[in-house]
Amino acid sequence: MSSTIKLEIVTPAGKKYSGDVEYLKAPALDGEIGILPGHAPLVTGLKIGLLELKKGEERLVIPISEGFMEVTPDNINVVVRTAELPEEIDVERARRAKEREEKRLNGADVGLDYVDYVRARAALERALARLKAAEANSR
Ligand code: ATP
Repeated sequence: MSSTIKLEIVTPAGKKYSGDVEYLKAPALDGEIGILPGHAPLVTGLKIGLLELKKGEERLVIPISEGFMEVTPDNINVVVRTAELPEEIDVERARRAKEREEKRLNGADVGLDYVDYVRARAALERALARLKAAEANSR
């Protein structure tokens, strides 16, 4: 069996990443999932969080928002609404988004209606994932 598995990450803007990896950790809907070459086939939803991939000495952390992942023994296909490579992450923008959404969630005197609450939570989670990824990639 090969020691690597081919990973592709696609967003509506096009292909984000394509390469052979030794290991991928992904935020599946029902919890973190680790994928090694030869993994049993599966399809799962992905939630906002971090993809962590490993190849030799290379470690890459990629923040994603919602999507899907298809795994076969030789391939991993990730299709997500957004994903940013390390050099694309705008840390200042993510900080501003985090502050804005925290204010929205904490500061609303009369409370948020449910839809606004869910949107603000999701926006906060995206900002936190981007900040965590930027931090992890700079180590
Ligand atoms: P913001 O409030 O800053 O727009 P958002 O979470 O609402 O953030 P998204 O709707 O998830 O933004 O993404 C819209 C587009 O902007 C996507 O292409 C995404 O990759 C990009 N993007 C969002 N935030 C950042 C960031 N901090 N750094 C780099 N790209 C970002």
